[in-house]
Amino acid sequence: MKSLTRETKLTIIYILAAFAFSVAMRMIWAYQFADYEAFKYAGQFMINTNDGYYYAEGARDILSGISQENDLSPITSAASQLTAFFAYILPFSFESILLFMPVFLSSLVVVPIILIARGLDNLEMGFIAALLASIAWSYYNRTMIGYYDTDMLNIVLPMFLLWSIIWAVKTNEDKYLLLTALDILVYRWWYPQSYSLEFSFFTLILLYTLVFDRKNLYNYKLLAIMMLAMINLDGFIRFPLVLAAFYIFKQEKYQKYIYHILALSVLVFFATGGFDPILGKLKLYVFKDATLIGEEGLKLHFYSVMQTIREAGQIPFETFANRISGHVVTFILSIVGFVYLAYRHKIMLFALPLIGLGFLASVGGLRFTIYAVPILAFGVAFLITELTRYITDKKSVKYFAYATLTLAVLYPNYKHIEEYRVPTVFNADEVKILTDLSKIADREDYVISWWDYGYPIRYYSDVKTLVDGGKHEGNHNFPVSFVLSNPQNVAAKMARLDVEFTEKAFQIQKANQELNESKRTVLFSNTEEMTKKYGLNDTNDFLLSLQTADIHMPEKTRDIYFYLPYRMLDIYPTVTIFSNLNLMDGKKGQAPFFYVSRNFKEVNESINLGSGISLNKNEKTLTIGAQKVGVKRFVQTYYDKNMQLQKNVQSLNSTAPLSVIYMSPYNTFLVVDEQTYNSSYIQMMALEEYDRSLFEKVIMNPHAKVYKLKI
Ligand code: MN
Repeated sequence: MKSLTRETKLTIIYILAAFAFSVAMRMIWAYQFADYEAFKYAGQFMINTNDGYYYAEGARDILSGISQENDLSPITSAASQLTAFFAYILPFSFESILLFMPVFLSSLVVVPIILIARGLDNLEMGFIAALLASIAWSYYNRTMIGYYDTDMLNIVLPMFLLWSIIWAVKTNEDKYLLLTALDILVYRWWYPQSYSLEFSFFTLILLYTLVFDRKNLYNYKLLAIMMLAMINLDGFIRFPLVLAAFYIFKQEKYQKYIYHILALSVLVFFATGGFDPILGKLKLYVFKDATLIGEEGLKLHFYSVMQTIREAGQIPFETFANRISGHVVTFILSIVGFVYLAYRHKIMLFALPLIGLGFLASVGGLRFTIYAVPILAFGVAFLITELTRYITDKKSVKYFAYATLTLAVLYPNYKHIEEYRVPTVFNADEVKILTDLSKIADREDYVISWWDYGYPIRYYSDVKTLVDGGKHEGNHNFPVSFVLSNPQNVAAKMARLDVEFTEKAFQIQKANQELNESKRTVLFSNTEEMTKKYGLNDTNDFLLSLQTADIHMPEKTRDIYFYLPYRMLDIYPTVTIFSNLNLMDGKKGQAPFFYVSRNFKEVNESINLGSGISLNKNEKTLTIGAQKVGVKRFVQTYYDKNMQLQKNVQSLNSTAPLSVIYMSPYNTFLVVDEQTYNSSYIQMMALEEYDRSLFEKVIMNPHAKVYKLKI
C-alpha cells in the first residue's frame, strides 16, 4: 500500500474524530433515559418521531414479505428499503436498527464538510465546521437518536452533492462527473422532492459556465450528466444513461457530441415532465382557483388542516438563529464568516441554494432551517481559523485558540442537547395494548383512532387505519372526528360506512387505472359518496338520517376496532373541529365546552381547577370566572381491587349545562358540556360506558380502551 500523504492522514483523522463526536453527542439522550422502562419495547428504546413508524411499517413488511394491496405500507420507499437492508445484514434487532440509523447516517455529514474544506486547503476549518454542524440545534433535533425519518440523510446527500460539484469545477477531473450524477440518483431515490435543490445547483452551474467559463467543455459535460440524472424517468433507466454518458465523455473522439448530448438531455428533461413540479408550483400561485374548474358534486367545505397549523411566517429571529447555529451571536458571526469565505473562495457560492432553502424557513416552516446549518457552520469556522492565523503563527497558541473558540461555539448546542429530553411516541403500556391487539385483529381489519396514532397503530398492530400522519386532510378527518365526538349509535354507523367506502374507493381507483381518462369514475370524498348513496344531496340530511334506527347499512367486509387512548384528552378539542362544521356552507359550529385539569388545589370547600374555574364541593356548583354554573352530574371514576373501572354518578341539576368527571386514578378533572359528555370518546374511554348492541370490550387498560364494533 502506498503511504498516505500527511494531508490525507489528517483528513481521515478529522473525519473519524468528528464522526465519533457526533455519535457520542447523540448518545446523551440514551444515557439520560437508560433506566426508563416506559420508553422501551422489546428491550430497546422506541423511536420518538411519529412519521418514523411509517417507514418502519414498510421495512417490516419488506422483511416479512407480507404486504397487502391498499394497506398504505411504503414498501417501495427508500427509507424502508434501506432499513430492511440494514436489518437483513446487521446482527442487531430491528428495533435497534430503527433507533440507531439516524445516529450513524446523519453523522456522515462530517465527511463532505471536511472534504469541501480540504479542497480549500483549510482542514481545520472543516473539522470545526463538522463538529458544529453535526450537533447544531435543528440538525440535532431532526437527526437525534430515535428520530427515524428521511432527515437522517436529507442534509448528508446534498452536502455530498455540493462537495462533488465544487471539486468537479475546481479540478475538472472526470471522476467528479460520475460522482455528481450518482449522488443525484441516490438523493432522488432517497427523497423525491430533492429536484428543486438539484435544479438550483444545475442553474447555478449553468450561470457560472455562461458568465465565467464559457469555453470549458468540462462544464457542459457536468451539466449534461447532471441533467441525465435528473430527468423524470425511473432510476433504473437514468443509471445506465449516466454510465453511458460518462463513457462517452471520457473518449476523446466523441468530444464534438457533448453539446448534442446536453441539448438532448434538456429536451428529454422537459419531455418527461421534469419541469412539471416547478411549473405546478408556479401555477398554484398564479392560477389559484384553477383546480375548481370542471369539478362537479356537492362542493363540500371540509376543514383545512392548514388552519390548525400556526402561521408559518411568524418565526422570531432568535428562534431562527438558534435553530441554525445554536446562538444568535454564533449565527451573526456565521453570516459574516460565510460572506468573507465566499469572497476569499468564490467557489463556495455554489452553496447558496442550501442557504436559500434554509432561509425559506421564515416562510415555509422551521423544518427548513437544517439546510443552512452546515453552510453557516463553515462561516463561523472560517472566522475562527482566519482570526487565529491573524493573531499568531505559534502552533501551540494557535491550537489553544482553536479549541477555546470552538468550544464556545459548541457549548450552546451541547446545552440544548442536554435539555432536549423528548419522549418516545408511545409508552411501553400503550405499545403492549397494540401488540396484544395485533394478535386479535386481522391484517385487513381497521382500527379507528385519530390520525396522530395512525402510523404507530399500523406498525404495532399490523392493521389498517382510516387516517394517519400522511392522510389527514379535512375530508379524511371528517368521518373520524365525527365518530369520536358523536354519540355511539351514529358513531358506530359512520365508522362502518367510512371503512366500507374507503375500501370501495380503493376498488374504484384500481378499476380507473385500466380505463382511459374519459371513462374513469370521478371519486369524491367518502362523506359525499355516502350522501349520494342514500339518495340525498345535502350532507346535513345524511348525517341526520344516521340517527334513524332502520338506515340500511352496507355489507360488513371486515372487523373494526376503536382505539381510544387517554392521551387523546389533550387534543380532543382539535379532534372535534374537523366535524364541528356545516359541510354545505363551511360555517363552523360553536366550540364545545371542554376543560381538563391535572393541576388542581383544594381551597376550603372548593377545588380550584385553574384558569379561573373552581368547583364548590358543598354546593356542587362551578364557578367560571365571575359566573356561577350548576352541575348536571358529578362522576367519579376509580379502579377496584380487580383493576376494573368503577364509577359513582351523582345526578345533580338536570337543567345545568356542564358535567364534572373526576378520573381519580389519573388525577384528572374534566368539565364538559352535554355534547362532549355523550361523545363516544368520553363515554367509552373515560367511563367505559358502551352500548352492548353496538360494541364489545376487547382491551381495557388505563392508557387506552379498545372496543370491537358489532355492526
Ligand atoms: Mn399491513
